[in-house]
Amino acid sequence: MSAAELPAREAMEFDVVIVGAGPAGLAAAIKLKQLSPQTSVVVVEKGSEAGAHILSGAVIDPIALDKLVPEWRGEETPVRTAVSDDRFYVLGPSGAVRLPNLLLPPLMSNHGNFIVSLGDVCRYLAQKAESLGVEIYPGFAAVETLFENGAVAGIATGDMGIAKDGHPKAGFTRGMELRAKYTLFAEGARGSLSKGLIERFGLQQNRQPQKFGIGLKELWQVAPENFSSGLVQHTMGWPLDNRTGGGSFLYHFGDRLVAVGFVVHLNYANPYLSPFEEFQRFKTHPLVRQTFSGGKRICYGARALTEGGWQSVPKLVFPGGALIGCAAGFMNVPRIKGSHNAVLSGMLAAEHVAAALAAGRAHDELVDYEAAWRGSPIGHDLWRVRNAKPLWSKLGTLAGVALGGLDMWTNTFGFSLIGTLKHGKPDSATLKPAAQCRPIAYPKPDGKLTFDRLSSVYLSNTNHEEDQPVHLIVRDGALQKSSEHDVYAGPSARYCPAGVYEWIEEASAPRYVINAQNCVHCKTCDIKDPNQNINWVPPEGGGGPNYPNM
Ligand SMILES: Cc1cc2nc3c(=O)[nH]c(=O)nc-3n(C[C@H](O)[C@H](O)[C@H](O)COP(=O)(O)OP(=O)(O)OC[C@H]3O[C@@H](n4cnc5c(N)ncnc54)[C@H](O)[C@@H]3O)c2cc1C
Ligand code: SF4
Repeated sequence: MSAAELPAREAMEFDVVIVGAGPAGLAAAIKLKQLSPQTSVVVVEKGSEAGAHILSGAVIDPIALDKLVPEWRGEETPVRTAVSDDRFYVLGPSGAVRLPNLLLPPLMSNHGNFIVSLGDVCRYLAQKAESLGVEIYPGFAAVETLFENGAVAGIATGDMGIAKDGHPKAGFTRGMELRAKYTLFAEGARGSLSKGLIERFGLQQNRQPQKFGIGLKELWQVAPENFSSGLVQHTMGWPLDNRTGGGSFLYHFGDRLVAVGFVVHLNYANPYLSPFEEFQRFKTHPLVRQTFSGGKRICYGARALTEGGWQSVPKLVFPGGALIGCAAGFMNVPRIKGSHNAVLSGMLAAEHVAAALAAGRAHDELVDYEAAWRGSPIGHDLWRVRNAKPLWSKLGTLAGVALGGLDMWTNTFGFSLIGTLKHGKPDSATLKPAAQCRPIAYPKPDGKLTFDRLSSVYLSNTNHEEDQPVHLIVRDGALQKSSEHDVYAGPSARYCPAGVYEWIEEASAPRYVINAQNCVHCKTCDIKDPNQNINWVPPEGGGGPNYPNM
């Protein structure tokens, strides 16, 4: 059966469709029902359940939860470990210098914040949403945006049961059209439908390009003597060199759990760099290695995060819908926090959707949401840190962190000596040809503290139906060989945290192998491929990682 012969999709009508059951999407759904219980709201989520695809740190600023569900403080929730000790270090190869907390701008303080699994927080918010009457459809990926008279009119979920060769298998089920007066896109960093909307409506025009990082994370249960409930520790520096941006986090919470993660800014230049191997190396530093002695690694995953901030937030609205959360890039990079802005943006958009519906409007632009965000707490949060990332990129880590810190201090008092700096190139344009770079020799994993990719992916519980079309679309195979392989020495084999891409050197020609079933949906390939030749599209709903509590 060809695509044209497929049966028509069934359609369902709602007031509001929300794509993504992360903090932004769930907050929007909850707020809509709080404001107007009769509004029909549906949330589609590609993970097998709310939380299954959520990977974060996470130290959360409770400012947003306090506004959305103030009753949480009196309830049994996953928000249980208050931050009790907050440390920031600059690392060298064998030593560490702790920066006194008094030197750090006040907005960097974690006093009053909580250490959580953001996946568990999403499960809690999903229950809240359902108790208010929101319909949540987990295991359904939104694969297509529907348009009517130029306006967004909803989304279609993917067909289930298509074989690798594109033909329907036994048990084939057609996707559904979920139509709405307004559709909110809450897909997180580098959302696939959001990317199409940004292109179609020119939403990035007159803005700086969006910038990204890749965050890799492991969850450990550590020995009692290495556990310090409420400890939050961040580092910059080693193992990255001064020209490569990034840093680590280490959070002690719950039942002897330690969330350890490493972020590499995706504007790095050396195609031989492997964010995964840098993370493994980081754990061997004398400051941190003892934490894991006698402990057990219980989960692994990775996810891109947005880093462009204030200058890079696209226009948020278009006829019939809006971007919210990290799909819009509301992450505060120096604070490594985005979940509070995700929730706040979901609430802000919901207020404007509710007002539009009450006025009998549909399918128009929510211009008041666009006009409101820069003057809201989200804008205030991002404005103060807007120069930190450009300074790191231009000056390197040490000078960049020092000047970025100074700029955040002056912004605390309402002014900046340097205005608003630009980011420059998108991350896909920052790799140097391999011939100009030195290969990096990474140590072999020991299987106790450091690991290889495949045993790591195993701990992400990633699962995809094997007989389905590959969801990593290489637009031009010849270009991948002549440029990605021949010029850049195949960086996808190193930046992918799940070992999806391999170049197999064969006598006739190198062969590009895509192990799509390992993909943890981090979106890094969609961002970093030097020719923008890889397009990540959602696989069959329910596939991907199954993070229990990341
Ligand atoms: C390593 C790392 C550490 C971080 N640390 C912190 C921290 O300590 N504190 C903090 O506040 N923030 C932190 N953040 C940022 C924080 O995680 C994000 O700001 C937040 O998760 C954004 O929420 P969101 O709802 O916009 O997107 P997401 O959390 O990414 O959620 C998007 C949801 O939409 C679903 N989805 C996407 N596309 C589709 C589709 N087409 N169809 C159906 N479903 C779809 C996804 O499966 C996912 O469930 C960190 C991020 C990373 C990567
Ligand atoms: S294939 Fe792309 S999206 Fe999937 S894990 Fe690798 S880099 Fe991330």
